[in-house]
Amino acid sequence: MPSSDLSPTFISHAPGYWQPDEMDHWSDHKWQLRNRVDSLIDLESRLNLTDIERAGVLLAGTKLAMSITPHYFNLIDRDDPDCPIRRQVIPRIEEGWNAPEELADPCGEDSHMPVPGLVHRYPDRVLFLVTDRCASYCRYCTRSRVVSGVGEQHLETQWEPAFRYLEKHTEIRDVLLSGGDPLLFSDDRLDKVLTRLRSIPHIQFVRIGSRIPIFLPQRITPELCAMLKKHHPLFISIHTNHPRELTSEVRDALGRLADAGIPLGNQSVLLRGVNDSVEVQKALVHKLLMCRVRPYYLYQCDLINGSSHLRTSVAEGVAVIEGLRGHTTGYAIPQFVIDGPGGGGKIPINPNYLIESVPGRVTLRNFEGNVFEYPDPTPMPAAELERLHQQAFCPSEG
Ligand SMILES: *Cc1c(COP(=O)(O)O)cnc(C)c1O
Repeated sequence: MPSSDLSPTFISHAPGYWQPDEMDHWSDHKWQLRNRVDSLIDLESRLNLTDIERAGVLLAGTKLAMSITPHYFNLIDRDDPDCPIRRQVIPRIEEGWNAPEELADPCGEDSHMPVPGLVHRYPDRVLFLVTDRCASYCRYCTRSRVVSGVGEQHLETQWEPAFRYLEKHTEIRDVLLSGGDPLLFSDDRLDKVLTRLRSIPHIQFVRIGSRIPIFLPQRITPELCAMLKKHHPLFISIHTNHPRELTSEVRDALGRLADAGIPLGNQSVLLRGVNDSVEVQKALVHKLLMCRVRPYYLYQCDLINGSSHLRTSVAEGVAVIEGLRGHTTGYAIPQFVIDGPGGGGKIPINPNYLIESVPGRVTLRNFEGNVFEYPDPTPMPAAELERLHQQAFCPSEG
């Protein structure tokens, strides 16, 4: 890995694979979207592909499309087939094999949809899938069954029935907009969706899940930030996996969101050959704090079809957390979770710091492996209570 990956510096990779005269359009997000790398010819004109990747691109056409913004493409190392950025967005032949434990809908979302597009899995909050398109496609996408529009299944969000469901279900206080990527909507369209949600009195909290700050930081315009700001309290969960993704353009985009008063969290996926080491994770979370982003979740990779080459063991995730907790800022440490297969929801997984728990005391270990006993409280004796009472109210008699 380039040594810069682990240093806490923010650099721009432009123009990279593009011509200097194309830089006139570089900061225009529409130009970035129009110029995405989305075909084998396009890809091979810029990179030397391996046969494993070439076959992967040909297979991807009917499963999950390939599409990479010029901004993100520039993070790819031309000569390193194991480049952590490459593994995230360039298909590989392994995607064509479904391991026996894998599923098309690993989190059981389709069976928790009271209205198409609305996943109501937890008592007080819903996941609202508002689009099936993203700026670029992650090869481990948990929603690849519907995302990108090339597979057999399609997302058909039922807008009016979804809003009516939200209005009727007064227990819903938290709506998470996702997809696809909601920040692909125009400012106007997103403003209308947020206004409609904000008109529902019991919805206290709205979040947007988006990888656009990473794939397409040019989309985070001052106008978008000014619009989002009208809808507070609004949080954004971004998705970044590797410190190289935090470029100077990304840092500036995140700064604009933070300046608009939007609390930012990050959701990472633990991926083999991308970020499955304490060193890479530490560099990532330190850069996130510098961008005013709080690491929120680290996901064990879902059992999505064709992802076995990107998944790690659960023990490796626990080892990452073990390597962070106590060794660095508490704010920098995400919660490691497994989304229970078939619809179990997010289940937190932690290193075991509780060695023993018996009535009267617990035995603990800290991050350095030292052992501590922590006793349960001793009830105050009645005689002591009486003595203190006397002392407070009848000091002369004491
Ligand atoms: C992740 C998720 C949420 C939000 O969970 P939090 O723990 O509140 O971030 C809500 N609904 C569904 C279906 C989810 O997968």
